[in-house]
Amino acid sequence: MHRGNRLTKQGSLAEIRKTYLQAGRLVGRGGTIVRKNLLTEVIGTVTGREPGQLVIQITNKCNGDCPQCGMRTSKKIKRTSIPTETLKKQIEQCVKSNFSAISFTGGEPFIDHKIIFELLDYAGKEGVRYLRSGTNGFMFARNGKPVPLEEAELFIRRLAETKIRNFWISIDSSDTKTHETMRGLPGVIAGIENALPIFHTYGIYPAANLGINRNILGTTILPLNGTEDEGRFFEEFSVGFHNFFQKVIHMGFTMANLCYPMSRNNENINESAYGAISDDSIVSFSRRELMLIFQALLEIIPIYRERIRIFTPLSALYGMAGKDSSLVFPCLGGIRYFYMNSLDGHIYPCGFRGEEDLGCEIGTTMKQRNRTQKCFRCHWECFMDPSQLFGIGNYILRHPLKVIFHKRKASAASKSDSELFRLWFADIKYYLHCHLFDGRRPFYKVTAVNLKKERMLQKAEPET
Ligand code: SF4
Ligand code: SF4
Repeated sequence: MHRGNRLTKQGSLAEIRKTYLQAGRLVGRGGTIVRKNLLTEVIGTVTGREPGQLVIQITNKCNGDCPQCGMRTSKKIKRTSIPTETLKKQIEQCVKSNFSAISFTGGEPFIDHKIIFELLDYAGKEGVRYLRSGTNGFMFARNGKPVPLEEAELFIRRLAETKIRNFWISIDSSDTKTHETMRGLPGVIAGIENALPIFHTYGIYPAANLGINRNILGTTILPLNGTEDEGRFFEEFSVGFHNFFQKVIHMGFTMANLCYPMSRNNENINESAYGAISDDSIVSFSRRELMLIFQALLEIIPIYRERIRIFTPLSALYGMAGKDSSLVFPCLGGIRYFYMNSLDGHIYPCGFRGEEDLGCEIGTTMKQRNRTQKCFRCHWECFMDPSQLFGIGNYILRHPLKVIFHKRKASAASKSDSELFRLWFADIKYYLHCHLFDGRRPFYKVTAVNLKKERMLQKAEPET
């Protein structure tokens, strides 16, 4: 059924609004919440207490068969899940230790719906502010076809009952067949397309998550063959990103996020904790290739930022693209951000530093962590993107004179520093415009008319 039919069947606009409002994230409340959250975050940044984040790999079981991932279903590895009661205790400790963000990842986190919903309910009840999880979308397709809309709706309605803030769905390529073949999930793109309007009806705005790989275009992008080949490589990735954004906008996504390639070859990592890290050639890139990919993103993202919310900060890309290495800030992995591994239920500084077992209790880990370490070993976006954003913000707040000095200097010799600050301010403005990427709010331009509409909606249906 076409998505328009679905919405008509769902009921009148008033009914849809009601469902949306009941979903618990009222549009009109956002302005105050965004300002309050931002203030908390700013205070945390100046005092060196950036909001904590724990990425929990609840299981490494998966039903996808992605060649770029060490946890694909065809790979013979030990499959484990962390017991739910252990995770609940961990969530309580996170809240006590002032963590505001928890991500449940996998494997496929939704491989057992009952468990993930129980965890999301629990974390929401405990007051975790930034609650995230995602899927490969397997629940939206069966036997090569989309599942019935009623079935998709049951899942989405249950998800909307939780306090999840951000929900991602992985999309690997701008070409449907390539994506579905890579994932081993035929029919999944049509299934996701059918499900998106239902998500929106229930007040959830999923993000399309692109794990950057050589198949983004549909045909494999070959490795860089010397300096003269750079134009071809840059062009192919630029077109790949263009096509990707166009595809996900066409599918109905209103948010997107880019996951930088995670391969041991990229980072010279000996023992990684996170099973998603792979040696496969489609996610293995040389340093120069990565720089060209980041440069392509720097050019393409601004073109699409007004059409779809793109989390990836330009100021982080700028440093990684090799434009200015002097102001790349150390990662907060192991300091404020941590990773919990499903294999042993232990905490690590991140998914990469598998040789640094930090025990099994986040409370104890926080007391014993080494706050002075400086790590730049990889580009794991979950940790590096916010680290760079907070790092630059912290620098600006602590050294306003140096920033002014950089700006003055820029007009003479080094233009790069001022460009980094300009991009950072543009990122912050954009983040505010996107209500800090609240995945329970629609994306539209903040105009007087829209604000008035929000207030009217809020008045008509007070929060229950
Ligand atoms: S990338 Fe995700 S869906 Fe694919 S095999 Fe890995 S965990 Fe499964
Ligand atoms: S840069 Fe961050 S995510 Fe990467 S290895 Fe270092 S601490 Fe881990």
